[in-house]
Amino acid sequence: MNIVRLSSRKTAIIGFMSFFTLAVSGQEKAALEISHSNPPSEALAPLRFLAADELMGRGTMRSEIHIAARYVSEEFRAAGLRTCQGANDYFQSFDIKSQVPSKMGTLKMAGKSYTIGNEVVEINGDNLTFSAPVVYAGFGTGEDLDKAGVQGKIVVAKMGFSDTSKINEAFHDVDLKRKMVKDRGGVALIELYRPMGFPWSGIVRFLSSERPEIENSDKLPELLLNDSLVASKLQGQGTIGSIDITDVVNTYTPAENVLGWVEGSDPKLKDEFIVLSAHYDHLGVAKKPKMEEGKMDSIYNGARDNALGTTAVIDAARYFAKHPPKRSILFIAYTGEEIGEIGSKYFSEHPLVPLRQIVYNLNIDNASYDDTTIVTVVGLGRTTADADIKKACAAFQVTAMPDLEPEQDLFDRSDNVNLAEKGIPAPTFSLGMRKFDAEINKRYHQLSDEVGNLNLSYCMKFINSFILSAENIANDQTRPVWIPGDKYEAAAKTLYGN
Ligand SMILES: [Zn+2]
Repeated sequence: MNIVRLSSRKTAIIGFMSFFTLAVSGQEKAALEISHSNPPSEALAPLRFLAADELMGRGTMRSEIHIAARYVSEEFRAAGLRTCQGANDYFQSFDIKSQVPSKMGTLKMAGKSYTIGNEVVEINGDNLTFSAPVVYAGFGTGEDLDKAGVQGKIVVAKMGFSDTSKINEAFHDVDLKRKMVKDRGGVALIELYRPMGFPWSGIVRFLSSERPEIENSDKLPELLLNDSLVASKLQGQGTIGSIDITDVVNTYTPAENVLGWVEGSDPKLKDEFIVLSAHYDHLGVAKKPKMEEGKMDSIYNGARDNALGTTAVIDAARYFAKHPPKRSILFIAYTGEEIGEIGSKYFSEHPLVPLRQIVYNLNIDNASYDDTTIVTVVGLGRTTADADIKKACAAFQVTAMPDLEPEQDLFDRSDNVNLAEKGIPAPTFSLGMRKFDAEINKRYHQLSDEVGNLNLSYCMKFINSFILSAENIANDQTRPVWIPGDKYEAAAKTLYGN
Protein backbone atom coordinates (compact mmCIF):
# COMPACT_ATOMS: atom_id res chain seq x y z
CA MET A 1 0.00 0.00 0.00
CA ASN A 2 1.23 3.39 -0.98
CA ILE A 3 1.06 5.71 1.94
CA VAL A 4 1.16 8.85 -0.24
CA ARG A 5 -2.36 8.26 -1.45
CA LEU A 6 -3.90 8.21 1.99
CA SER A 7 -5.46 11.19 3.63
CA SER A 8 -3.38 12.81 6.36
CA ARG A 9 -5.73 11.52 9.03
CA LYS A 10 -5.26 7.96 7.86
CA THR A 11 -1.51 8.52 7.72
CA ALA A 12 -1.65 9.62 11.32
CA ILE A 13 -3.55 6.49 12.27
CA ILE A 14 -1.12 4.24 10.41
CA GLY A 15 1.74 6.14 11.98
CA PHE A 16 0.24 5.59 15.41
CA MET A 17 -0.38 1.93 14.68
CA SER A 18 3.14 1.28 13.50
CA PHE A 19 4.46 3.07 16.58
CA PHE A 20 2.28 0.79 18.67
CA THR A 21 3.45 -2.28 16.74
CA LEU A 22 7.03 -1.18 17.24
CA ALA A 23 6.45 -0.71 20.96
CA VAL A 24 5.00 -4.21 21.24
CA SER A 25 7.71 -5.77 19.14
CA GLY A 26 10.28 -3.89 21.26
CA GLN A 27 8.96 -5.79 24.28
CA GLU A 28 8.81 -9.04 22.33
CA LYS A 29 12.38 -8.59 21.20
CA ALA A 30 13.50 -7.88 24.74
CA ALA A 31 11.51 -10.88 25.98
CA LEU A 32 13.19 -13.13 23.41
CA GLU A 33 16.62 -11.84 24.40
CA ILE A 34 15.90 -12.56 28.06
CA SER A 35 14.49 -16.04 27.36
CA HIS A 36 17.46 -16.80 25.16
CA SER A 37 20.10 -15.77 27.71
CA ASN A 38 18.24 -17.37 30.63
CA PRO A 39 17.57 -21.01 29.68
CA PRO A 40 15.66 -22.94 32.40
CA SER A 41 18.47 -25.42 33.00
CA GLU A 42 20.75 -22.60 34.17
CA ALA A 43 18.08 -20.21 35.41
CA LEU A 44 16.61 -22.69 37.89
CA ALA A 45 19.88 -24.13 39.26
CA PRO A 46 19.95 -21.59 42.12
CA LEU A 47 16.38 -22.58 43.04
CA ARG A 48 17.31 -26.26 43.24
CA PHE A 49 20.41 -25.52 45.27
CA LEU A 50 18.91 -23.05 47.73
CA ALA A 51 15.79 -25.15 48.35
CA ALA A 52 17.75 -28.39 48.79
CA ASP A 53 17.51 -30.29 52.10
CA GLU A 54 21.26 -29.80 52.68
CA LEU A 55 20.65 -26.09 53.26
CA MET A 56 18.42 -27.03 56.23
CA GLY A 57 15.75 -24.47 55.49
CA ARG A 58 18.13 -21.49 55.51
CA GLY A 59 17.19 -20.50 59.05
CA THR A 60 18.79 -17.16 59.83
CA MET A 61 20.23 -18.36 63.13
CA ARG A 62 21.54 -21.67 61.67
CA SER A 63 25.05 -22.16 60.31
CA GLU A 64 23.84 -23.40 56.90
CA ILE A 65 22.57 -19.90 56.10
CA HIS A 66 26.20 -18.93 55.47
CA ILE A 67 26.45 -21.61 52.76
CA ALA A 68 23.48 -19.98 51.05
CA ALA A 69 25.11 -16.55 51.39
CA ARG A 70 28.42 -17.87 50.04
CA TYR A 71 26.64 -19.44 47.09
CA VAL A 72 24.80 -16.21 46.21
CA SER A 73 28.03 -14.22 46.50
CA GLU A 74 29.86 -16.60 44.14
CA GLU A 75 26.99 -16.34 41.66
CA PHE A 76 27.30 -12.56 41.84
CA ARG A 77 31.06 -12.86 41.26
CA ALA A 78 30.62 -15.25 38.34
CA ALA A 79 28.10 -12.86 36.81
CA GLY A 80 30.68 -10.09 37.04
CA LEU A 81 28.92 -7.80 39.53
CA ARG A 82 30.90 -5.02 41.15
CA THR A 83 31.28 -4.98 44.91
CA CYS A 84 29.99 -2.03 46.95
CA GLN A 85 32.26 0.32 48.77
CA GLY A 86 32.02 -0.48 52.47
CA ALA A 87 31.06 -4.11 51.83
CA ASN A 88 33.25 -7.06 52.71
CA ASP A 89 33.57 -8.60 49.22
CA TYR A 90 29.88 -9.20 48.35
CA PHE A 91 28.82 -9.32 52.01
CA GLN A 92 27.29 -6.73 54.25
CA SER A 93 28.04 -8.37 57.60
CA PHE A 94 26.44 -7.55 60.92
CA ASP A 95 25.44 -9.20 64.17
CA ILE A 96 21.93 -10.21 65.11
CA LYS A 97 21.39 -9.77 68.81
CA SER A 98 19.17 -12.31 70.55
CA GLN A 99 17.96 -11.21 73.88
CA VAL A 100 16.50 -13.46 76.54
CA PRO A 101 14.52 -10.80 78.38
CA SER A 102 14.47 -10.27 82.10
CA LYS A 103 12.14 -12.41 84.20
CA MET A 104 12.64 -10.82 87.59
CA GLY A 105 13.57 -7.15 87.40
CA THR A 106 11.65 -4.39 89.15
CA LEU A 107 10.44 -0.88 88.51
CA LYS A 108 9.65 1.26 91.53
CA MET A 109 7.90 4.61 91.41
CA ALA A 110 5.07 6.57 93.02
CA GLY A 111 5.15 4.27 96.04
CA LYS A 112 4.60 1.13 94.00
CA SER A 113 6.79 -1.77 93.01
CA TYR A 114 6.17 -3.50 89.68
CA THR A 115 7.73 -6.81 88.63
CA ILE A 116 9.06 -7.52 85.15
CA GLY A 117 6.92 -10.16 83.47
CA ASN A 118 3.88 -9.23 85.57
CA GLU A 119 2.93 -5.55 85.40
CA VAL A 120 5.88 -4.37 83.36
CA VAL A 121 7.99 -5.61 80.41
CA GLU A 122 11.15 -4.33 78.79
CA ILE A 123 10.78 -3.17 75.17
CA ASN A 124 14.29 -1.84 74.67
CA GLY A 125 17.45 -1.99 76.71
CA ASP A 126 19.59 -4.36 78.64
CA ASN A 127 20.57 -4.90 82.23
CA LEU A 128 19.89 -1.65 84.08
CA THR A 129 20.30 -0.33 87.60
CA PHE A 130 19.54 3.33 88.11
CA SER A 131 17.26 5.92 89.69
CA ALA A 132 16.10 9.24 88.28
CA PRO A 133 13.28 11.76 88.68
CA VAL A 134 10.09 10.78 86.86
CA VAL A 135 8.02 13.08 84.68
CA TYR A 136 4.66 12.43 83.03
CA ALA A 137 4.38 13.69 79.44
CA GLY A 138 0.95 12.84 77.96
CA PHE A 139 1.44 10.95 74.71
CA GLY A 140 5.08 11.92 74.53
CA THR A 141 4.81 13.98 71.37
CA GLY A 142 7.59 16.50 70.77
CA GLU A 143 5.34 19.20 72.17
CA ASP A 144 4.40 17.12 75.24
CA LEU A 145 8.06 16.40 75.96
CA ASP A 146 9.11 20.02 75.57
CA LYS A 147 6.33 21.12 77.89
CA ALA A 148 7.15 18.51 80.52
CA GLY A 149 10.90 19.13 80.49
CA VAL A 150 12.55 15.71 80.32
CA GLN A 151 16.29 16.40 80.64
CA GLY A 152 17.81 13.78 82.97
CA LYS A 153 14.43 12.22 83.71
CA ILE A 154 12.51 8.98 83.29
CA VAL A 155 9.64 9.89 80.96
CA VAL A 156 6.24 8.27 81.46
CA ALA A 157 3.87 8.58 78.50
CA LYS A 158 0.75 6.92 77.18
CA MET A 159 1.40 4.20 74.60
CA GLY A 160 1.23 5.27 70.94
CA PHE A 161 -0.10 8.67 69.96
CA SER A 162 -3.61 10.15 70.26
CA ASP A 163 -4.62 8.79 66.84
CA THR A 164 -3.10 5.31 67.33
CA SER A 165 -5.85 2.70 67.27
CA LYS A 166 -3.91 -0.53 66.71
CA ILE A 167 -1.30 -2.10 68.93
CA ASN A 168 1.08 -2.80 66.03
CA GLU A 169 1.02 0.88 65.09
CA ALA A 170 1.92 1.72 68.67
CA PHE A 171 4.85 -0.73 68.56
CA HIS A 172 5.86 0.69 65.24
CA ASP A 173 6.13 4.16 66.76
CA VAL A 174 8.29 3.21 69.74
CA ASP A 175 11.60 3.89 67.95
CA LEU A 176 10.44 7.36 66.98
CA LYS A 177 9.21 8.17 70.46
CA ARG A 178 12.42 6.93 72.07
CA LYS A 179 14.44 9.05 69.71
CA MET A 180 12.43 12.13 70.67
CA VAL A 181 12.98 11.41 74.36
CA LYS A 182 16.68 10.77 73.84
CA ASP A 183 17.18 13.89 71.73
CA ARG A 184 15.76 15.92 74.62
CA GLY A 185 18.03 14.34 77.21
CA GLY A 186 15.57 11.89 78.80
CA VAL A 187 17.17 8.79 80.40
CA ALA A 188 14.38 6.22 79.96
CA LEU A 189 10.88 5.90 78.54
CA ILE A 190 8.03 4.11 80.24
CA GLU A 191 4.95 3.74 78.09
CA LEU A 192 1.60 3.10 79.73
CA TYR A 193 -0.18 0.19 78.10
CA ARG A 194 -3.50 0.85 76.35
CA PRO A 195 -5.31 -2.34 75.23
CA MET A 196 -6.30 -1.35 71.66
CA GLY A 197 -7.90 -4.77 71.29
CA PHE A 198 -4.81 -6.70 72.38
CA PRO A 199 -4.65 -8.34 75.82
CA TRP A 200 -1.82 -7.58 78.23
CA SER A 201 -1.09 -11.30 78.67
CA GLY A 202 -0.33 -11.57 74.92
CA ILE A 203 2.10 -8.68 75.14
CA VAL A 204 3.86 -10.19 78.14
CA ARG A 205 4.17 -13.52 76.33
CA PHE A 206 5.59 -11.84 73.23
CA LEU A 207 8.03 -9.56 75.02
CA SER A 208 9.17 -12.22 77.48
CA SER A 209 10.32 -14.64 74.81
CA GLU A 210 13.71 -14.58 73.15
CA ARG A 211 13.70 -12.26 70.18
CA PRO A 212 16.30 -11.49 67.53
CA GLU A 213 16.95 -7.89 66.54
CA ILE A 214 19.59 -5.57 65.19
CA GLU A 215 21.80 -4.12 67.86
CA ASN A 216 20.68 -0.52 67.71
CA SER A 217 22.73 2.48 68.61
CA ASP A 218 19.71 3.75 70.54
CA LYS A 219 20.20 2.18 73.93
CA LEU A 220 17.57 4.27 75.68
CA PRO A 221 15.78 1.92 78.05
CA GLU A 222 12.08 1.53 77.42
CA LEU A 223 9.53 -0.32 79.53
CA LEU A 224 5.86 -0.96 78.98
CA LEU A 225 3.77 -0.68 82.15
CA ASN A 226 0.25 -1.97 82.70
CA ASP A 227 -0.97 0.67 85.15
CA SER A 228 -2.74 3.54 83.45
CA LEU A 229 -3.78 4.95 86.85
CA VAL A 230 -0.22 5.78 87.82
CA ALA A 231 -0.32 8.86 85.56
CA SER A 232 -2.40 10.82 88.04
CA LYS A 233 0.20 10.23 90.79
CA LEU A 234 3.00 11.64 88.67
CA GLN A 235 1.54 15.05 87.97
CA GLY A 236 3.50 16.77 90.73
CA GLN A 237 7.29 16.96 90.57
CA GLY A 238 9.68 15.14 92.84
CA THR A 239 8.86 11.46 92.24
CA ILE A 240 11.93 9.27 91.90
CA GLY A 241 11.77 6.09 89.88
CA SER A 242 14.22 3.21 90.05
CA ILE A 243 14.76 0.41 87.60
CA ASP A 244 16.63 -2.74 88.51
CA ILE A 245 17.13 -5.40 85.82
CA THR A 246 20.08 -7.78 86.04
CA ASP A 247 19.14 -11.09 84.42
CA VAL A 248 19.02 -10.20 80.70
CA VAL A 249 21.15 -12.54 78.55
CA ASN A 250 22.33 -11.48 75.09
CA THR A 251 23.87 -13.63 72.38
CA TYR A 252 25.17 -12.43 69.03
CA THR A 253 24.88 -14.32 65.74
CA PRO A 254 26.77 -13.26 62.62
CA ALA A 255 24.56 -12.52 59.61
CA GLU A 256 25.03 -11.12 56.13
CA ASN A 257 23.17 -9.48 53.29
CA VAL A 258 24.71 -10.29 49.91
CA LEU A 259 24.96 -7.45 47.42
CA GLY A 260 26.65 -6.27 44.23
CA TRP A 261 25.92 -3.92 41.35
CA VAL A 262 26.04 -3.23 37.63
CA GLU A 263 26.89 0.22 36.36
CA GLY A 264 24.31 1.85 34.10
CA SER A 265 25.16 2.67 30.49
CA ASP A 266 23.77 6.22 30.43
CA PRO A 267 26.27 8.88 31.57
CA LYS A 268 23.60 10.70 33.57
CA LEU A 269 21.07 8.05 34.56
CA LYS A 270 23.77 5.73 35.88
CA ASP A 271 23.86 7.82 39.05
CA GLU A 272 20.37 6.52 39.77
CA PHE A 273 19.99 2.97 41.09
CA ILE A 274 17.23 0.42 40.84
CA VAL A 275 17.40 -2.13 43.67
CA LEU A 276 16.39 -5.71 42.84
CA SER A 277 15.99 -7.61 46.08
CA ALA A 278 14.74 -10.82 47.67
CA HIS A 279 15.33 -12.46 51.03
CA TYR A 280 17.30 -15.70 50.91
CA ASP A 281 16.58 -16.90 54.45
CA HIS A 282 13.63 -19.08 55.43
CA LEU A 283 12.30 -20.87 58.51
CA GLY A 284 15.00 -23.51 59.07
CA VAL A 285 13.94 -26.82 60.60
CA ALA A 286 10.76 -27.73 62.49
CA LYS A 287 11.15 -28.66 66.17
CA LYS A 288 9.33 -31.94 65.51
CA PRO A 289 9.04 -33.82 62.20
CA LYS A 290 5.54 -33.75 60.76
CA MET A 291 3.63 -35.90 58.30
CA GLU A 292 2.83 -33.75 55.29
CA GLU A 293 1.35 -35.21 52.11
CA GLY A 294 2.31 -38.74 53.10
CA LYS A 295 5.89 -37.85 53.91
CA MET A 296 7.65 -37.30 57.24
CA ASP A 297 9.53 -34.05 56.96
CA SER A 298 11.12 -31.42 59.14
CA ILE A 299 12.94 -29.11 56.70
CA TYR A 300 11.33 -25.90 55.57
CA ASN A 301 12.79 -25.82 52.06
CA GLY A 302 11.13 -22.52 51.20
CA ALA A 303 11.24 -23.07 47.44
CA ARG A 304 8.61 -20.41 46.79
CA ASP A 305 9.49 -18.42 49.90
CA ASN A 306 11.99 -17.28 48.82
CA ALA A 307 14.53 -19.48 47.02
CA LEU A 308 12.61 -18.55 43.88
CA GLY A 309 12.90 -14.82 44.57
CA THR A 310 16.63 -15.15 45.27
CA THR A 311 16.96 -17.12 42.04
CA ALA A 312 15.26 -14.34 40.09
CA VAL A 313 17.70 -11.81 41.56
CA ILE A 314 20.67 -14.04 40.60
CA ASP A 315 19.26 -14.54 37.09
CA ALA A 316 18.73 -10.78 36.82
CA ALA A 317 22.34 -10.20 37.89
CA ARG A 318 23.61 -12.59 35.21
CA TYR A 319 21.45 -10.90 32.58
CA PHE A 320 22.11 -7.25 33.44
CA ALA A 321 25.86 -7.75 33.81
CA LYS A 322 25.81 -8.64 30.09
CA HIS A 323 23.04 -6.16 29.13
CA PRO A 324 23.51 -3.09 31.31
CA PRO A 325 20.48 -0.75 31.18
CA LYS A 326 20.67 3.04 31.45
CA ARG A 327 20.35 3.20 35.22
CA SER A 328 22.63 1.27 37.54
CA ILE A 329 21.25 -1.79 39.30
CA LEU A 330 21.99 -2.90 42.83
CA PHE A 331 21.21 -6.56 43.59
CA ILE A 332 20.53 -7.51 47.20
CA ALA A 333 19.83 -10.89 48.80
CA TYR A 334 18.63 -10.12 52.32
CA THR A 335 18.97 -12.30 55.38
CA GLY A 336 16.58 -12.38 58.35
CA GLU A 337 13.27 -11.57 56.65
CA GLU A 338 11.41 -14.37 58.40
CA ILE A 339 12.47 -13.15 61.84
CA GLY A 340 11.32 -9.58 61.26
CA GLU A 341 12.80 -8.15 58.02
CA ILE A 342 16.08 -7.71 59.85
CA GLY A 343 18.42 -7.74 56.82
CA SER A 344 16.51 -5.08 54.91
CA LYS A 345 16.16 -3.02 58.06
CA TYR A 346 19.91 -3.18 58.53
CA PHE A 347 20.52 -2.19 54.92
CA SER A 348 18.05 0.70 55.13
CA GLU A 349 19.90 2.00 58.17
CA HIS A 350 23.38 1.31 56.77
CA PRO A 351 22.92 1.72 53.00
CA LEU A 352 26.02 1.04 50.89
CA VAL A 353 24.59 3.24 48.12
CA PRO A 354 23.16 6.57 49.34
CA LEU A 355 19.40 6.04 49.67
CA ARG A 356 18.55 9.18 47.73
CA GLN A 357 20.33 7.66 44.71
CA ILE A 358 18.05 4.60 44.88
CA VAL A 359 15.04 5.62 42.83
CA TYR A 360 13.14 2.34 42.82
CA ASN A 361 13.10 -1.06 44.49
CA LEU A 362 11.53 -4.08 42.86
CA ASN A 363 11.47 -6.67 45.63
CA ILE A 364 10.39 -10.32 45.37
CA ASP A 365 8.72 -12.38 48.04
CA ASN A 366 6.33 -15.30 47.80
CA ALA A 367 3.73 -17.16 49.74
CA SER A 368 2.37 -19.52 47.07
CA TYR A 369 0.15 -19.25 43.97
CA ASP A 370 -3.38 -20.10 42.92
CA ASP A 371 -3.34 -18.71 39.37
CA THR A 372 -0.56 -19.25 36.85
CA THR A 373 -1.97 -16.73 34.38
CA ILE A 374 -1.12 -13.80 36.62
CA VAL A 375 1.75 -12.28 38.57
CA THR A 376 0.78 -10.43 41.73
CA VAL A 377 2.59 -7.16 42.15
CA VAL A 378 1.97 -5.95 45.67
CA GLY A 379 2.03 -2.19 45.17
CA LEU A 380 0.81 -2.14 41.56
CA GLY A 381 -1.25 1.04 41.30
CA ARG A 382 0.91 2.85 43.85
CA THR A 383 3.85 3.93 41.70
CA THR A 384 4.13 5.37 38.18
CA ALA A 385 6.01 2.27 36.95
CA ASP A 386 2.79 0.30 36.35
CA ALA A 387 3.01 0.48 32.55
CA ASP A 388 6.63 -0.75 32.58
CA ILE A 389 5.64 -3.72 34.71
CA LYS A 390 2.39 -4.57 32.91
CA LYS A 391 3.91 -4.66 29.43
CA ALA A 392 6.82 -6.80 30.68
CA CYS A 393 4.45 -9.35 32.16
CA ALA A 394 2.28 -9.32 29.02
CA ALA A 395 5.37 -10.13 26.94
CA PHE A 396 5.62 -13.40 28.92
CA GLN A 397 1.89 -14.15 28.68
CA VAL A 398 1.08 -13.36 32.28
CA THR A 399 -1.04 -10.49 33.57
CA ALA A 400 0.31 -8.19 36.26
CA MET A 401 -2.36 -7.83 38.93
CA PRO A 402 -2.36 -5.74 42.09
CA ASP A 403 -2.59 -7.40 45.48
CA LEU A 404 -6.21 -8.57 45.56
CA GLU A 405 -6.49 -8.72 49.34
CA PRO A 406 -5.29 -5.36 50.65
CA GLU A 407 -6.58 -6.22 54.15
CA GLN A 408 -3.72 -8.76 54.40
CA ASP A 409 -1.41 -5.73 54.44
CA LEU A 410 1.14 -7.62 52.34
CA PHE A 411 2.89 -4.44 51.22
CA ASP A 412 4.04 -3.78 54.75
CA ARG A 413 4.92 -7.42 55.50
CA SER A 414 8.09 -7.90 53.49
CA ASP A 415 11.51 -6.32 52.96
CA ASN A 416 10.22 -3.67 50.55
CA VAL A 417 8.65 -1.83 53.49
CA ASN A 418 11.99 -0.84 54.97
CA LEU A 419 12.94 1.04 51.80
CA ALA A 420 9.37 2.33 51.29
CA GLU A 421 9.45 3.87 54.75
CA LYS A 422 12.55 5.77 53.70
CA GLY A 423 10.57 7.05 50.70
CA ILE A 424 11.77 4.71 47.93
CA PRO A 425 8.95 3.42 45.67
CA ALA A 426 9.15 -0.31 46.40
CA PRO A 427 6.57 -2.84 45.21
CA THR A 428 6.94 -6.59 45.70
CA PHE A 429 6.69 -9.08 42.85
CA SER A 430 4.88 -12.28 43.89
CA LEU A 431 3.58 -15.48 42.37
CA GLY A 432 -0.05 -15.12 41.24
CA MET A 433 -2.41 -14.97 44.17
CA ARG A 434 -6.16 -14.37 43.79
CA LYS A 435 -6.99 -15.03 47.41
CA PHE A 436 -4.91 -15.71 50.52
CA ASP A 437 -6.91 -18.88 51.17
CA ALA A 438 -6.48 -22.60 51.82
CA GLU A 439 -4.78 -23.12 48.45
CA ILE A 440 -2.05 -20.64 49.40
CA ASN A 441 -1.81 -21.81 53.01
CA LYS A 442 -1.24 -25.36 51.78
CA ARG A 443 2.34 -24.28 50.97
CA TYR A 444 2.86 -20.96 52.73
CA HIS A 445 5.32 -21.53 55.58
CA GLN A 446 4.73 -25.30 55.27
CA LEU A 447 7.22 -28.15 55.06
CA SER A 448 5.88 -28.97 51.60
CA ASP A 449 7.02 -25.69 50.01
CA GLU A 450 9.39 -27.66 47.78
CA VAL A 451 10.69 -27.54 44.21
CA GLY A 452 8.99 -30.84 43.37
CA ASN A 453 5.51 -29.34 43.52
CA LEU A 454 6.32 -26.12 41.67
CA ASN A 455 5.13 -25.38 38.15
CA LEU A 456 8.56 -24.63 36.70
CA SER A 457 7.44 -23.23 33.36
CA TYR A 458 5.34 -20.73 35.30
CA CYS A 459 8.39 -19.97 37.46
CA MET A 460 10.32 -19.12 34.30
CA LYS A 461 7.61 -16.69 33.19
CA PHE A 462 7.71 -15.19 36.67
CA ILE A 463 11.50 -14.76 36.67
CA ASN A 464 11.66 -13.42 33.14
CA SER A 465 8.83 -10.95 33.59
CA PHE A 466 10.62 -9.69 36.70
CA ILE A 467 13.81 -9.17 34.68
CA LEU A 468 12.00 -7.38 31.86
CA SER A 469 10.05 -5.19 34.32
CA ALA A 470 13.36 -4.17 35.88
CA GLU A 471 14.86 -3.49 32.45
CA ASN A 472 11.91 -1.31 31.46
CA ILE A 473 12.11 0.68 34.67
CA ALA A 474 15.89 1.01 34.48
CA ASN A 475 15.67 2.31 30.90
CA ASP A 476 12.63 4.55 31.35
CA GLN A 477 13.56 8.18 30.70
CA THR A 478 10.93 9.18 33.26
CA ARG A 479 11.94 8.31 36.77
CA PRO A 480 9.16 6.39 38.56
CA VAL A 481 7.59 7.92 41.67
CA TRP A 482 4.82 7.20 44.15
CA ILE A 483 1.29 7.98 42.97
CA PRO A 484 0.32 11.30 44.61
CA GLY A 485 -1.31 10.81 47.97
CA ASP A 486 0.42 7.52 48.77
CA LYS A 487 1.20 7.04 52.44
CA TYR A 488 4.94 6.97 51.67
CA GLU A 489 4.92 10.08 49.49
CA ALA A 490 5.87 12.37 52.36
CA ALA A 491 8.90 10.19 53.12
CA ALA A 492 9.88 10.42 49.44
CA LYS A 493 9.77 14.21 49.62
CA THR A 494 12.06 14.13 52.63
CA LEU A 495 14.44 11.71 50.92
CA TYR A 496 14.66 13.17 47.42
CA GLY A 497 13.56 16.78 48.01
CA ASN A 498 10.79 18.13 45.82
ZN1 LIG B 1 9.23 -14.55 52.28
